[in-house]
Order: sequence, then C-alpha cells, then structure tokens
Amino acid sequence: MTPSTERALQAELASIVGEANVLPGSESAYLRDATETRGVAGRADAIVLPESTQHVASVLSWCYAHDVPLVPRGGGTGYAGGAVPVQGGVVLALERMARVRSFEPLLWRMHVEAGVRTAHVHRLARESGLLFPPDPGASEQSQIGGNIATNAGGPHAFKYGVTGAWVTGLEAVVPPGDAVRVGGPIRKDVAGYDLKSLLIGSEGTLGIITAAWLRLVPAPEAALPVVAFYDGAPAGCAAIERVVGSGLVPAALEYLDAGALRAAGRSFPGGAPESAGFMVVAEADGTREEAARLRGELVEALREGALGVGTPSGPAEVADLWRWRDGVAFAVIAVRGGKAGEDVVVPLDRLAEAIEETVAIGRRHGLEACSWGHAGDGNVHANFLVDPASEDDLGRARAAAEEVFALAVALGGSISGEHGIGWTKRGHLARQWAPRALELHRAVKQVFDPKGLLNPGKKV
Ligand SMILES: Cc1cc2nc3c(=O)[nH]c(=O)nc-3n(C[C@H](O)[C@H](O)[C@H](O)COP(=O)(O)OP(=O)(O)OC[C@H]3O[C@@H](n4cnc5c(N)ncnc54)[C@H](O)[C@@H]3O)c2cc1C
Repeated sequence: MTPSTERALQAELASIVGEANVLPGSESAYLRDATETRGVAGRADAIVLPESTQHVASVLSWCYAHDVPLVPRGGGTGYAGGAVPVQGGVVLALERMARVRSFEPLLWRMHVEAGVRTAHVHRLARESGLLFPPDPGASEQSQIGGNIATNAGGPHAFKYGVTGAWVTGLEAVVPPGDAVRVGGPIRKDVAGYDLKSLLIGSEGTLGIITAAWLRLVPAPEAALPVVAFYDGAPAGCAAIERVVGSGLVPAALEYLDAGALRAAGRSFPGGAPESAGFMVVAEADGTREEAARLRGELVEALREGALGVGTPSGPAEVADLWRWRDGVAFAVIAVRGGKAGEDVVVPLDRLAEAIEETVAIGRRHGLEACSWGHAGDGNVHANFLVDPASEDDLGRARAAAEEVFALAVALGGSISGEHGIGWTKRGHLARQWAPRALELHRAVKQVFDPKGLLNPGKKV
C-alpha cells in the first residue's frame, strides 16, 4: 500500500470508530507478540482500537467489503505469532473493550468484554471468595479474549481444565460483519452444534470474540504446594506417575528439567540442590484440612528417589513460588537473548522420553535445549536457546522444532497443548490430522470466513 492509500484507509476507518481509535500501521507495539525473541514481526496498514461490539462489526464489515485482512489482537503475549499481522491489513486490538458487563458472585458468573485482562478477572473473583481457575503465565498482560481464542492452559489446568471449560457463552463478530451469541449465562446448552467450542481455540481465524460469560467456583480455602528435586527426568517422571497412579488430584503438577533449572534455579526462593537435574512442583488445594492431608500424601508420593522435598508455607512463600514459576521463561530467554519454544503434548507415560529427546534434538542441531511445563497434562514446553539476531541460530531452531513436532506425534501426542498453531506452526496440522479431518478444518474456515480475510496465514 502506498502512503496515500494507507492514509485514506485510516481515514475511512476513523469515520467508523472515531479518529481517537485509529493509529497508524507503524505503531510497532501492535506488530509483534512473544515470538519477537525468535524474529517474528509483521506490518500493518492501520491499528484500530474498537470500543464496542458495534465498532467491531462495522470494521469487519468494511474490511470484508474492501478485501482487507483483519488480525484480532489481545494482550500480545501469544507464543505462536497469532496476533502478528504477517500479511499487512488492519490490526484490531481489543484493549478498549475492557468492561465487566456484570458480575454476580452469588451465581458464580461474570460477563466480561474480550479486552479485560486475565489477572483482573482473577482479582475480582478472589475479592468475592471465588476462583476463575485458568492461569496462563502472562496473566497481567493477556486478555480474556486472547485466552479464549487460544484456549489457554496454565499450571492449574491439571485439576481444573483449560480456559474453554470455564466459558459458558460467547459474543463474537463473524464475517461479513455480524454479531452472534453462542451460549450465555446458562450452565448447560446442547441445543445446536457446539459453535462456542469451535470459536474457542480458533486463534482469531473464525470470528472476533467481543465478550464472554465466564463460570466461577468458590475459591479453595487453602493452596499448599510441594516442591521436589531429582537427579534427572526418569526419577522425576516416575514420581509424577506415582502421584497420578495413587489417585491423588493435585491442582497443579509442574516440572522443570535440568536446563531450565540451570537458567532459573538460582533465583528459586527456597534454593535448589546443586546436583538437581529435575524439579516437580505440585499443589494441594481444598479446605485447610483437605489441603494439608493431600499435601502430606503428595510429599509421600514424591519422596521416593528425591534429592529433597520442600513445602513452602504461608501466603507470601506460596506467592513467591508461583511468581518464580511465571518467570521461568524470562530466565531462559536471558541466557542467550532469545528462545524458540514449542509447546507439545505427549501421553503422561512418554513424558520422560519427550524431555530427554528434546535435549538430544537440540544437541544434534548445535543448540542448548531445555524444557519445563505442565507435567500432569504431559505438556512439554520444549525450548531452544537462540541469539535472536542470528539467522543461523533461528534456522537451526526451526529445524529442531520440526523434530520436536515429529517426536510428539510419534509418541502419540499433539503439536500444541496450549499456545496454538498461529503463524509459527502454520502448515503443521497435517502432521497429526488425517486428510479427511484436515478437509473438515478447511471447510469450517471456509464457512465462517469465505474470503479468508480473518487472520490469514494462521492456524489452517
Ligand atoms: C511469560 C509467558 C507465559 C505464558 N504462559 C502460558 C501458559 O501457562 N499457558 C498458556 O496457554 N499460554 C501461556 N502463554 C501464552 C499466552 O499468554 C497465551 O496464549 C494467551 O492466551 C494469549 O493471550 P493474549 O491476550 O496475549 O492474546 P494475543 O497474543 O494477543 O493473541 C493470541 C491469538 O488469539 C487471537 N485473539 C486475541 N484476542 C482475540 C479476540 N478477542 N477474538 C478473536 N481472536 C483473538 C489472536 O489473533 C491470536 O491468534 C504465556 C506467554 C508468556 C509471554
């Protein structure tokens, strides 16, 4: 687009949503996400900041009439480049749609606009003794709309499930510019095809989520974590399997491998043993009595083969532990300035294999590799440490990622557990879906978005 057509496009959009809600396409903060450290960047012709569902519908309608791509954007914390406008067009950033439309604590539900930050929902629920369990790591920046569009997980998904499990209804705008409502404040609804679930995890390729009805639960009275260290993945994963096999249900069951511990272990609040090559974090929740009993049982199950087992206690220590856990990704990035991470899932009994093979894959490609993740869900965040300015590193990381995907599928798993396909894993769905299933994916996209203008190049 020439500068003058770009200015004309911005003026047309300004006539729809108001001048104050349109920014030039060069606003770099809206052209990248958490894949920036692996060199992914985009370009846009305009950034639009809608204030209402009507704004969203009118902008999509205009884009559809003028064949302009539209990329929905939440908090920009995505790890798959989903919000990066790789083919130009309009970025639709939902941050100004951040109203809580209603909160009814006695009915355990909240109706929020898509741009509300995840942590805000957590805090509001907490203040009324309730819990919104999905807890993806960047919750101060990510938005509910982004969480729904990626069907985000997090440590506590082990017991409570991923974001989609907590959404009873959606308001969305679908091509060519229609607002639709699927589900609502009701807790059950099997009347039609499950369109809500199609939109959940669709990464902005089927519609723009403008609001959601969220389900809450009474917050557990106590949350008591246990940390255990092992010499390596085999002993640590055996302990994880022992926990699950004993019928214990921790709220979270996390791991860090040796490389992740090397990067983040020094700042671990309780201090990690020098010889540790694997760490497990489990958390017991419930009433004070239930949580204390479960924590004792977790300690027993995790003790065998451990170098050490600890039980952080008191709200400050527990908060420190999870703050540290949220920072693991940044500690790993700090080692070389960047990381190329893939988020695969394997069956629980193949977890140790996936963790060890990730390191071996990195070695074969001349890159240090490490992983951490949501062990109970078999969710491995396999990361290759890179210098983001080095094309050579990035190329080798891409080749290593190919092997990680192949490994996950060969072990009976999936190429993404929570970060999605986005841009970075484009074209990879064929690895795990049969041709007919792929055809159905494409057919769904075609029905929702016949012109292929919604977040083009992503997901399918
Ligand atoms: C430090 C860190 C830790 C993380 N930990 C986790 C974790 O534990 N679990 C996890 O699942 N993820 C994690 N993530 C990844 C990321 O936070 C999640 O994918 C999150 O759900 C993205 O939300 P967002 O609002 O930032 O979305 P964005 O990055 O802005 O967008 C993500 C995708 O959703 C689409 N989208 C955004 N908003 C809408 C909307 N309103 N309507 C339609 N489509 C939309 C975009 O087009 C894009 O495809 C982590 C990221 C970081 C940086």
